[in-house]
Amino acid sequence: MTFRGIAPTGRPLIIPVFITHRGCTHRCAFCDQEAIAGAGSLPDAVPGIVEKYIGWSSGDRPVELSFYGGSFTALPVRELSEYLQVGKDLIARKIVGSLRCSTRPDTINTGMAKLLKTSGFAVVELGAQTMSDRLLTEMERGHTADDTRQAVKDLKEAGLSVVLQFMTGYPDETPQDVATTCRALIAARPDAIRIYPFMPLAGTKISQRLQCNEARFDPVAAIDRAADIFLAAQEAGIPTIRIGLPKDGIVVSPYPDNLAQVVVAEALAKLAKRGEREFILPAAWETSVAIARKSGRFPADAKVVYL
Ligand code: SF4
Repeated sequence: MTFRGIAPTGRPLIIPVFITHRGCTHRCAFCDQEAIAGAGSLPDAVPGIVEKYIGWSSGDRPVELSFYGGSFTALPVRELSEYLQVGKDLIARKIVGSLRCSTRPDTINTGMAKLLKTSGFAVVELGAQTMSDRLLTEMERGHTADDTRQAVKDLKEAGLSVVLQFMTGYPDETPQDVATTCRALIAARPDAIRIYPFMPLAGTKISQRLQCNEARFDPVAAIDRAADIFLAAQEAGIPTIRIGLPKDGIVVSPYPDNLAQVVVAEALAKLAKRGEREFILPAAWETSVAIARKSGRFPADAKVVYL
């Protein structure tokens, strides 16, 4: 099997601007963006952030200004217009090449998709989390899997690339929930996915339920299911551009530091168990092969070719 890289070559320099919880109509049961990204940045701070990043980075990569950490397309109209104007100005001055945002699926419609396209957006990331309606209710997301399917369709029809973000290992998630997500993600055909194994953040509703033993969380299952989603995407030719949250702001993680490599190793072991014996992999994945071999679940006779 030929794998597509976690970080494909030619990827843009993504400059993240966090709008921390702005636009969110409520708090999802697992979310604390302040813990992950701090207080966020108002529109007039954006040009300074962009210049700082460009100063740190070298090379000819295209630059993408990205609004993360809230519900960008649900911002109040005036605030949304201010961010869009800042983005358009930076594009007109050729400081950035395109824009990107993450948002809730139920805040996309054909009009919003067209507005994003005409404002210079190239990519929209949707917080799908899961395609199991049962689990979406548990997460208190306030939208359905059908909202995600419709949002993907609207964005693609507007000419935008779509990245779907998935969470694995949410407390009391079942293998059936994950199978539903795998089938639905293949059918939706996003341009790429991100996988975030569940992180119990202090102060969230779900963390309180875990502390009261009202729910169960198993980090090993979260890794195993991340491997399932990663494999389903790989087999459908859909690249995974990230596995795991950035470490900044997270005090205690239940996962190994090399989480992405461990998830890929798990995926390789699963494929080997199914009888796969030829692996064509990005060279950067050598460590995952070593991890899989060390676990004793990667056959010695497997042919591994690094690209
Ligand atoms: S998961 Fe997304 S929509 Fe839910 S509270 Fe966090 S930023 Fe807002």
